[in-house]
This record gives sequence, C-alpha cells and structure tokens, in this order.
Amino acid sequence: MAQCSTNYFNKITLNWLKQYVDFNWPPGRFLAGCLMTCLLASSLAAAESRRADHVFIISFDQGDPDLIQQSEMPVFQQMAAEGAHSWNAFTIVPSLTLSAHTSMLTGVGPQAHQILWNDYQPAKGVVKLPTIFKLAKQRGLKTAMFVGKEKFKHLLLPGSVDAFIWPQPDDGALSVAKAFAAQVKTLQPNLCFIHFRDPDTQGHKYGSHSPEKKMALKDCDLALGIIKNAIAEAELTNSVIILTADHGSHDIKNNNGKIAGAHGSAETCDVVIPWVAWGKGVKKNFAVTAPIIQYDTAATTLWLLGVPLPEYFWGRPVTSAFEVTAEQPN
Ligand SMILES: [Zn+2]
Ligand SMILES: [Zn+2]
Repeated sequence: MAQCSTNYFNKITLNWLKQYVDFNWPPGRFLAGCLMTCLLASSLAAAESRRADHVFIISFDQGDPDLIQQSEMPVFQQMAAEGAHSWNAFTIVPSLTLSAHTSMLTGVGPQAHQILWNDYQPAKGVVKLPTIFKLAKQRGLKTAMFVGKEKFKHLLLPGSVDAFIWPQPDDGALSVAKAFAAQVKTLQPNLCFIHFRDPDTQGHKYGSHSPEKKMALKDCDLALGIIKNAIAEAELTNSVIILTADHGSHDIKNNNGKIAGAHGSAETCDVVIPWVAWGKGVKKNFAVTAPIIQYDTAATTLWLLGVPLPEYFWGRPVTSAFEVTAEQPN
C-alpha cells in the first residue's frame, strides 16, 4: 500500500518535472534522473525500515496479569511463552479505560491527551492529538478497530480508521472476534486494534478475582484463538500481535456490602498490566526486563510499521523484545 502511494507520488513528480525540464536536452534528462533516483531511494528506505506489515494490538479490559496467568487461557499463555513478555508493565493514572486506551493509541500520557473522562460523551468530540491510526494513514497504511465499547468513538479522528466495528447488540469478546474473522482477509489492515470488554464487565459485578471474571477471561482466550487463526488463514504472515490491557483492578464493597471490582487508582493492583509481543521478528521465549509503560505500545507499533515517531511522543519502542538484524537499524 505504501509502495503504491509512493509510485503514484513518483508519477506525479515526473509529470511535474516535465513542465520545467526539457527531457530532450541531455543535462535535463540527467538532472531528472538524479531527482527520481533520490525519490526512489527514499521510498525504498521507508519500506526497509518497516519491520512488520501488520500489527494487531489486542487489549483485555481489566486484564490483571496475575489473573491471566491463573485462568484457563492456553492461547494467551502459549503466545507469552513463545514470544517476548512482561507481567510487570504499567498503565497510566488515572487507570481508567478511556484514558488508558488513549495513551496506548496516542503515545502520550493523560496530561498531554486530556481524555480524562471515562464514558461516551459525544459533545466532547474526539481526541485533540493524532492517534497512531492517523499517523499510519498519513503513510498510506490501512487501519481498523474492533471494539466492545462505544466510547472508543472518542478516538475516531476524521479519515483515520478505515473500518470501525462495534458489534451490536452483542459486543462481547467472541462477537468481536467473529466480526474480525469475517473481515480481516478483505480489510488486510496494517494497523488493527481489538478490544475485549468481558473481564471488566464481570470484574465490576463479581469482584476483581472472581470465578465469573476468570470465565470471562476464558472466553477472551477463545476469542484470541479465533483471531490468531483468522490472521493465519488470511496469510498475513509478516505480522506482530501485541497482547496487553488498559488497567488491572482491586476489590471494594458495594452499597449492599457485596464484593465488587474497581480501578482508577495508582495502586499496584490497578496499574500493573501484561504486555506480550508475538510474531515476526519477536524474540522467542524472552522476558522483557526493560520498563514498559502504556504509551510504549503506540511507539512500538509505529516503529514496527516504519512510521516515524513524532517528537512529542512520551512512548519509546520496546526494542529489546525484537531481533534486530544487520539490515534493520536499531
Ligand atoms: Zn477498562
Ligand atoms: Zn472498568
């Protein structure tokens, strides 16, 4: 896609050059040749700096790392074991769904993106800073979002997401995964965000480490399996899948004196999240020891796709999770 855009750009440039340079005059031809060579070299450099053609970010809402390790989640656990993983990554504060996902997908903290509310409020419009979808689109890449909550519409900058899917009336993980599986081959997104709401729903209702939440995580793992198979069936072999969460959780007593789950604080149980990279170029069976913060997912994604990181980014790519070959600059 990026190369198509570059070829189109080169064709336009060639036509533009013809207005000013006489191609029948040998020095003119030489000059035009030099310019076109430079353009071609820059487009090849962009393609070479791309480490993956597709990045899939999968977020488990309220996905506490300890509970993920204790639950029946064979797909997640196998991907963590086969790939690079940290069970001690951090989210931002406030550890709330919309603020945290905005950091995950803009590369900055909440002080910079200012999405400080946590429900869908259409009057507040969309995030003021570019999302990674916007930055990827500017490089001619294809983007998609499959989500389980309407509030992600606050991240929909105009023209930034080719397909925004919030399945209705059922927006559970299996429904999201089936929608993804039905469309991935057609869409072939270079950047795709997928969100599973189920553990958050059950966690709030029954408690942060309740059997009901474990069952929700089991469903998410089935959904993850569907997504992983769909990517393989679509033959998107040059892909990286990142598994992470917006925040963890803790228990509170609700008005009836019953245990319920909550989050939002800077306490360890709320801010520690899992982070797994799996796929093309990812180190095998590797425990990441470098600190990972929520906005590093945005930076890692752009770095993998060969999209330059904006200077204002707080996030840094988690380079230690990937094999760096001689041809690929660090
Ligand atoms: Zn959440
Ligand atoms: Zn929640």
